[in-house]
Amino acid sequence: MTRTAFYPGSFDPLTNGHLDILMQALHCVDKVVVGIGIHPGKAPMFSFDERANLIRQVVGEVDESLQQCLEVKAFDGLAVDAARDCAASMMVRGLRDGTDLDYEMQLSGMNGTMQPDIKTVFFPATPATRFITGTLVRQIAKMGGEVEKFVPAPVLTALHEKLQKAG
Ligand code: ADP
Repeated sequence: MTRTAFYPGSFDPLTNGHLDILMQALHCVDKVVVGIGIHPGKAPMFSFDERANLIRQVVGEVDESLQQCLEVKAFDGLAVDAARDCAASMMVRGLRDGTDLDYEMQLSGMNGTMQPDIKTVFFPATPATRFITGTLVRQIAKMGGEVEKFVPAPVLTALHEKLQKAG
C-alpha cells in the first residue's frame, strides 16, 4: 500500500522553511502531494505553474530520485477534501512556534472531525529555517532586500526575474 501525505500551503514561493518540512515528509512516506491553495480574489506573486515548477526543480536538485515521490496539485476548496481526493492518509503541517501550534491544533481538530481517516502530522521546523515566512520573503524581496539565505537558489533566480519584469 502506498502511503501518501498531503502538504497544503501557498508556497508563494517555496522557502527553505517549506523545503525543510517537505524533505522531512518525503523521508517518512512513499509519496507527498504538495497542494497549492488557489484563493480567488488573492493575487499571488507566482502563478500556480511557476510555483509548481519551482517545487519540482528544487526537490530534483536536492535528490533526483525523490521526484518520483512528489506530486504538485492545485486546490481551491478545503484542504481535507483535496487530501481525500488524492487518497492521502496524512496531512502534513510545519510547526514554527507556539503561535503555529495553537492555530494548527484547532485546524487539525476541525479537519480530523470532518475527515477522521486523514491524520494530521506535524513536523518541527529546523532551527535554522524556523523564522522564515513566505510573506516576509516577498516583502523583503520587493523592497530590494537580499533573500538569498531564505530561499533555494532556483527560487532566488525566479524572484529576481519576477521583480525585474515588474520594473
Ligand atoms: P507561509 O506561512 O510561509 O506563507 P504557507 O501558508 O505556504 O507558508 O505554509 C504551508 C505550511 O508550511 C504550513 O504548515 C506552515 O506551518 C509551514 N511552514 C511555512 N514556513 C515554515 C518554516 N519556516 N518552517 C517550518 N514550516 C513552515
